[in-house]
Amino acid sequence: MSKFKTIDDLDVAGKRVLVRADLNVPMKDGVPTDTTRIDRSVDTIKGLTDRGARVVLMTHFGRPKGKFVPEMSLKPVAEAMARALGAPVAFAADVIGDSAKATVAALKDGEVAMLENVRFHAEEEKNDPDFAKALASLGDVYVNDAFSTAHRAHASTEALARLLPAAAGRLMQAELEALGGALGNPQKPVAAVVGGAKVSTKMEVLGNLSQKVDMIIIGGGMANTFLFAQGHDVGASLCEKDMKDDALKIIADAKAKGCEIILPVDVVVAKEFAANAENKVVGIDAIPADMMALDIGPASIAEVEKRLASCKTLVWNGPFGAFEIAPFDKGTNAAAQAAARLTKEGKLLSVAGGGDTVAALSHAGASDDFSYISTAGGAFLEWIEGKTLPGVAALDQ
Ligand code: ADP
Ligand code: MG
Repeated sequence: MSKFKTIDDLDVAGKRVLVRADLNVPMKDGVPTDTTRIDRSVDTIKGLTDRGARVVLMTHFGRPKGKFVPEMSLKPVAEAMARALGAPVAFAADVIGDSAKATVAALKDGEVAMLENVRFHAEEEKNDPDFAKALASLGDVYVNDAFSTAHRAHASTEALARLLPAAAGRLMQAELEALGGALGNPQKPVAAVVGGAKVSTKMEVLGNLSQKVDMIIIGGGMANTFLFAQGHDVGASLCEKDMKDDALKIIADAKAKGCEIILPVDVVVAKEFAANAENKVVGIDAIPADMMALDIGPASIAEVEKRLASCKTLVWNGPFGAFEIAPFDKGTNAAAQAAARLTKEGKLLSVAGGGDTVAALSHAGASDDFSYISTAGGAFLEWIEGKTLPGVAALDQ
């Protein structure tokens, strides 16, 4: 894991601090409907203004594709931010140019401004050096608090970081520390749970993890593809038959590296993908031709619980079954609750991420007890794929 500075390492008193946040909040009729991202940014902003910094916030919002789109203006976000901070937030009608310059110039120590949507300029997503220079002229130091966009080399996340003294904000810091603890230099044994619908979307995740962890526990629809590859008949289950060779290669590569692949031994099958569909538990050699495996069975759950109890570190992406429809949430719930309990008892460091995974762990009532749950989506996935994230690399000292 990279070595990066935090806001504690910056001298910010009286300085203009450009803060790249992720304030891409859900919005309806010009009002943010969920202010989680705004609320979570307050720590970093206050950590700077309390020390006399002049904070200039930057973020993207929606996909305006390089044009001014009135519905994607950040004005309502600036207003919501002012409410969250309990202090005024000056708003610049553009990202660069006269309005941005004037707004920033008017800031006093401890005050906050927000620039308009960085994606109103096509140069942002092109990581354009001149656009980055124009942004850099608005600040003395740079803070990146947007891990969720760190997998994209954009002007406000990458080029800009190379032009000013740069540091990670509190959210970025928390994310990098959690992820570093899980895969950078983890306590062994390390388990990975990889579940979800398809193997094809998680080939790189499986490939990278098989070289880094001690065991991969596979669940969800993708387990069917692995079972099929090993010669089991998976009936009408979701299964990517054309991924058979890829699945076998993952198993072989993992074995060569001493990583154990753990597959279900029993599954819950049903004829329909529907809530409370008639279902039964069968062994993996007895899946009826007209039925689908929608969850792991009780023997598999017991095995997963046993495995988790034998590990010190857990990285989790993907549910064990179709958790959105009862009772096919049982496997995911049980495993999530086991990981949460072990974490609470101080026996496990648990890090999870992924769109449906975040929802599944919350559904299981397990979110609060995991060590860290990343809401970063694509950036989290690229990180477990072992990729270098440009926005993080740019913070490297
Ligand atoms: P994430 O968003 O956390 O990366 P995925 O998108 O890979 O997770 O997978 C989540 C989806 O996988 C869920 O919609 C879930 O219903 C589906 N799924 C899990 N197990 C099965 C299964 N056995 N059959 C069909 N779909 C499944
Ligand atoms: Mg998903």
